[in-house]
Amino acid sequence: MLRGVDPTSIRLPADLLPTDGRFGCGPSKVRPGQIDALVAAATTVLGTSHRKPPVKQLVGSVRSGLTDLFGLPDGWEIVLGNGGTTVFWDVATFGLVEQRSQHLTFGEFSSKFAEACAAAPHLDDPMVISTEPGDHPEPVGHDDIDLHALTHNETSTGVAMQLRRPDRTADGALVAVDATSAAGGLPWDPAEVDVYYFAPQKCFASDGGLWLAACSPAAVERIERIAASDRWRPASLDLGIALTNSRQDQTYNTPAVATLVMLDAQLRWMNDHGGLDWCVGRSRASADTLYSWAGSREWATPFVSDPEKRSAVVGTIDLDDRISADHVCAALRANGVVDTDSYRKLGRNQLRVGMFPAIDPADVAALTHCIDHVVEQLDGARGG
Ligand SMILES: *Cc1c(COP(=O)(O)O)cnc(C)c1O
Repeated sequence: MLRGVDPTSIRLPADLLPTDGRFGCGPSKVRPGQIDALVAAATTVLGTSHRKPPVKQLVGSVRSGLTDLFGLPDGWEIVLGNGGTTVFWDVATFGLVEQRSQHLTFGEFSSKFAEACAAAPHLDDPMVISTEPGDHPEPVGHDDIDLHALTHNETSTGVAMQLRRPDRTADGALVAVDATSAAGGLPWDPAEVDVYYFAPQKCFASDGGLWLAACSPAAVERIERIAASDRWRPASLDLGIALTNSRQDQTYNTPAVATLVMLDAQLRWMNDHGGLDWCVGRSRASADTLYSWAGSREWATPFVSDPEKRSAVVGTIDLDDRISADHVCAALRANGVVDTDSYRKLGRNQLRVGMFPAIDPADVAALTHCIDHVVEQLDGARGG
């Protein structure tokens, strides 16, 4: 820093501030309407049995809401269970990978499923294809591979990839996609995917702790085949058990009912406003604002160099060395604008901005004005 300005002493003018200052990438902004839904459910759904109609209807509504949002073809099923995406990786090692998986790793999250498969004693060593953070690899068809593990949006770096089946896959090979931060904000075609899995704390603006997986008929067939085999599986991680329960609009063990209420409210909001296209357009509008702003400031650069790979839901912006991103984040936080920090392990002088559908594009524009103001205060006459 050129001058010893305490970032937390900077006061942003009220007319610059966003209406809502939450820009985190998960947990992310929960809309007030979702809290209204919680209040409405206070005595009728919350605190009642998950084996009885009010909660089962709620789970059914989440399952059909997702089917509508994604426009899933006949035969697809929504499966859910407790534990979030990280637990789903373990679930998949037990109940989805037949023998050998291929992983595209290009950041923290995409690496973790590869590590889980590598550690599983009943699976062959996975094939891992990597690129440096800021880019992504492409899947490669291979005779030995029965599951291709893709990540729709690498939340640690802000790289998004187009989902497509690799050419010349082995017979029956599945494409399984970690869509935790993408689902509900980026477009995809069910013809290119077999398992599209996620958790509700990103585009679905809810609390974490659940995993959900949209499964194609081929994936359902795989799940049922492994479930009928003698492979040992812990019951809580058994995808066959999860499938059976999901078909009855239940989970194997008790879910967080409040999370389901918030998720259902968000799905209704998304579907009522025009579905996935509308959601994608909203995130796209935010992203256009953020990236064009960064491109017009000499002290800011989008981290992802290929514009095609820049995520519309998680924006990563590198700052010039003279401006500490930590100080910018501290100044923003002191004004109620929070969670713009980069992913720690990436180790860059970077801002990271959640642009999920719940986040108003006008608030992303306001955020850019706030950052300009903070940088001017921190660094003298350097507003761009
Ligand atoms: C947030 C995130 C995860 C982790 O989700 P949990 O529900 O916390 O386990 C995994 N993958 C991606 C791409 C994510 O963005």
